[in-house]
Amino acid sequence: MIMNDDTQHNYWLSQVAPHPRRPRLEGDIKADVAIVGAGFTGLWCAYYLKRHDPALDIAIIEAERVGHGASGRNGGWVIGNLAGLSRLLEGLPLAQRRECCGLVSDNVDELGHVLDQEAIQADYHKGGAIYAAARYPDQEAIQRDYLEHLLALGHRETDCQWLDATALSERLRIENGYGGIFHRQVATVNPARLVTGLGGVVERLGVTIYEQTRATHVAEGEVSAYGGRITAARVVCATEGYAAQFHDWRKFIIPVQSAIIATEPLDESHWRQIGLAERPAFADASRIITYGQRTADGRIVFGARGTYRMGARPQNHYAIGAKAIRQRHALLCSLFPSLKDVRITHGWGGSLGLSRRFRPHAIYDRHSGLATAGGYAGEGVAASHLFGRTIADLLLERETPFTAMPWAHDDTSPAQLLKRWEPEPLRWAAAQAITLSYAGEEALMKHQRPLPLIKPALTRLNDVFASIIE
Ligand SMILES: Cc1cc2nc3c(=O)[nH]c(=O)nc-3n(C[C@H](O)[C@H](O)[C@H](O)COP(=O)(O)OP(=O)(O)OC[C@H]3O[C@@H](n4cnc5c(N)ncnc54)[C@H](O)[C@@H]3O)c2cc1C
Repeated sequence: MIMNDDTQHNYWLSQVAPHPRRPRLEGDIKADVAIVGAGFTGLWCAYYLKRHDPALDIAIIEAERVGHGASGRNGGWVIGNLAGLSRLLEGLPLAQRRECCGLVSDNVDELGHVLDQEAIQADYHKGGAIYAAARYPDQEAIQRDYLEHLLALGHRETDCQWLDATALSERLRIENGYGGIFHRQVATVNPARLVTGLGGVVERLGVTIYEQTRATHVAEGEVSAYGGRITAARVVCATEGYAAQFHDWRKFIIPVQSAIIATEPLDESHWRQIGLAERPAFADASRIITYGQRTADGRIVFGARGTYRMGARPQNHYAIGAKAIRQRHALLCSLFPSLKDVRITHGWGGSLGLSRRFRPHAIYDRHSGLATAGGYAGEGVAASHLFGRTIADLLLERETPFTAMPWAHDDTSPAQLLKRWEPEPLRWAAAQAITLSYAGEEALMKHQRPLPLIKPALTRLNDVFASIIE
């Protein structure tokens, strides 16, 4: 059964009906496709494989239980964009960029459609998102430029628009709101409901899921695990933020931690002050990257990017410390001072995957039969639907609009395509420097200090960091 302990920390899980654990893998088996990891990527891949070829024998092994990773713990934003899309589209003609942006944007509706079709109750709600509400004049300038950038890249004008202070306050009333980008193609979900519902759907399609089965080695034609081994011509590694545990992947994907809190259900007087009547997802323009949503039962779930741990260690457990909870509560109250006495009922964290080129990938090496997708950099809820689907098409050697996209690669191995991360302690030191620099800039903006040399220099430095990461 789902452990009480987990539901105490992770609000999403507390909304999922308890279900018995699935059995472990015991002994050696054969399958057509072996998938490691039962998060969104692995499950969507299995779903589309089965939809296209119902006869396929597919086995998924999951170290803990379905949705244990980022998929069951995230902020629940289903985003019609990709982290790193600008980099993926670099050098491509406008028509191609528009086609790609359109596909990424429409993916939000497609995902909603599949949930309807498969009767997955995940509280899917398409209320758009206030991407980056500016609270200081400097932030407004940065965000207006960012909107121009999105449109020049190929996003539709009907999808992204600027809200001035008045229009912003009609949707979201944050302290000192100057304006922000409204992105129509964003929905919110309870991700734990989505991932557990999807697990049930793929099982009904005939996929076997083994839980409590940790893979120890992923190789050409074979996955070894504690308890058994799967021999399969095609092997998909769908472990995103946990990929660094495998020797061959350690250098390419690193985990970054993010942490979230949930408030108690808010009363009507709070909502009158805050807005969010149409339940858009929301974030402020801070480089710390905040993300929030009004849940179906009237709470706020609110997160902020966390930390990188020396040695690329992922966060396996749910619990976060009292300090991390306090920090997020303080951030939330800085946006909505009226929430200072609201009770925080849950606090949890997890790991997302970051590739060195800061762009997501779906790779199938035809030669070895090995495939992987990830590097979503914190924007993986919708992306994993797109990329799991892409991997399914690549594995079945189908030529589709997805396999023609710049994230799809079937002529190369992960080791050839992905760039290595710098060794420690360089990585850790760079992560600390960026965090400090962002915090410094934020403090200067907040206090509206003139500091003619330092402020522009810091902003320029952070623009460089942001452009590297974007
Ligand atoms: C706190 C947080 C907030 C986020 N918020 C958002 C958001 O609002 N919107 C958004 O788009 N994205 C968000 N993300 C990112 C998004 O959740 C992920 O990109 C996405 O869920 C990745 O799905 P996945 O299936 O690739 O990986 P995961 O969901 O991490 O699944 C990997 C699975 O592999 C299993 N596993 C690991 N090792 C092994 C092994 N050795 N053997 C077998 N199984 C193994 C894990 O237990 C896990 O279940 C957030 C991430 C975090 C951590």
